[in-house]
Amino acid sequence: MTPSGRPRPAARDRRPPGERHARPERAPRPERPDRPEHAGRLERPDHPERPDRHGRPVRAAAAHGCGAGGAPRAEAVVDLAAIAGNTRLLAAHARGAVMAVVKADGFGHGAVPVARTALAHGASWLGVTSTAEALALRAAGITAPVLSWLHLPDEDFVPALRAGVDLAVPSPSHLAGIAAAADRARVTARVHLKVDTGLRRNGVAPADWPAVVEQARALERRGLLTVHGLWSHLVHADGTGPETALQVAAFERAAAVARRAGLRPALLHLANSGACLTAPRTHYDLVRVGLGLYGVEPVPGRDHGLRPAMTLRARAVAARPVAAGEGVSYGHEYTAARDGTLLLVPLGFADGVPRAAAGRARMWVAGSRRPVAGRIAMDQCVLDAGAHPVGPGEEVLVFGPGDHGEPTVADWARWAGTNPHEVLTGIGPRVPRRHLPAPGRPAGNPTPDPCPSPSPSDSATDEETTDRA
Ligand SMILES: *Cc1c(COP(=O)(O)O)cnc(C)c1O
Repeated sequence: MTPSGRPRPAARDRRPPGERHARPERAPRPERPDRPEHAGRLERPDHPERPDRHGRPVRAAAAHGCGAGGAPRAEAVVDLAAIAGNTRLLAAHARGAVMAVVKADGFGHGAVPVARTALAHGASWLGVTSTAEALALRAAGITAPVLSWLHLPDEDFVPALRAGVDLAVPSPSHLAGIAAAADRARVTARVHLKVDTGLRRNGVAPADWPAVVEQARALERRGLLTVHGLWSHLVHADGTGPETALQVAAFERAAAVARRAGLRPALLHLANSGACLTAPRTHYDLVRVGLGLYGVEPVPGRDHGLRPAMTLRARAVAARPVAAGEGVSYGHEYTAARDGTLLLVPLGFADGVPRAAAGRARMWVAGSRRPVAGRIAMDQCVLDAGAHPVGPGEEVLVFGPGDHGEPTVADWARWAGTNPHEVLTGIGPRVPRRHLPAPGRPAGNPTPDPCPSPSPSDSATDEETTDRA
């Protein structure tokens, strides 16, 4: 146990990873009226290439959640090098092409930068769930094939068709709506007929399938559309489970029906990230990868070597002493076990820190995992830093790749009783995203770790440094 108030050892840098490259003083950075804290920035404007004490660029250090001087009070740092590496890794497993699923603003990582990175590192398709998302990619100048798959049947498909967006067909009424829009727009729509193979969520019911493929073939003959793909979606996101084999069989029966009707789809696709890694029989011509792209292991209990791309970090806006036995935050659901320091973290459930994780959640501060003290509020939460000598401006990692022992998004999902997708997509718009560029280096040439893990003796032994998933 670290004695309370123990002076900081002079010889060893005990600051958390994010502070090691920072200016030595502990005071928070003064407000800069010309640079609002919440303005999203691609790079730190001050000294973007200033070398750290190891002679490495500060910008690279931030890829690992290591804040440099001038770090905003909270931000989501998106490491596009991780997206690039994950794309390559998934592409190496895929038997066919790779679709980067960038719906919901790229699972909260920024659809456009993620799309560009994935396309440069092995993906050839993009997937989204609305025509608005597809058009936003086009507006950014992205010309790669885009499939959009969740629409009202009577929605105005004309803008998407004019932009060359491929559209999913999950029902007879969608087929009619898309054909009518193609007629109005005087274009040939490119569609992917979706058959329900058991998920029972979206997709043509097996009973309707023969009629839909006949109708699609008739519309092809009229020049209104081309059936470019046949597809379905798996019941089990990790590609395992007895339903997967049944779905493969149902999918192949549906494909045979389509071929007998005269359709010649170029692409069959069924797999998501989990199936990309575990179920090659589901790959066909294209895999649609979402979660894995963002570096979250999609198969429980396995480690395929994906690297989490997002680091959610903050700097404490205040620190206060707490005495053993004192209650903290709304309802006093947390009681400090001993004298120490509380840090006020300027992130709450409006920013996507799951309120349901209170009581279990930990954040990384001063080289160890420390408990979130009591209820998570809308804009803030309190961290019990225990005996660590911390103060305002202290770097706090909410989650990151886990390199130093900081929690991962998978930990937060477990603490909140949800899945990592929900945590990632829940990070609110108030949190600025900062994208670190993907270096143009070949795969398999790892980036040197700019902020090496603390040595075992560098962490207090009474902390939950081993509480890793
Ligand atoms: C979101 C989504 C995916 C991606 O799934 P992951 O499990 O995140 O890889 C694939 N296909 C469809 C239809 C989806 O909606």
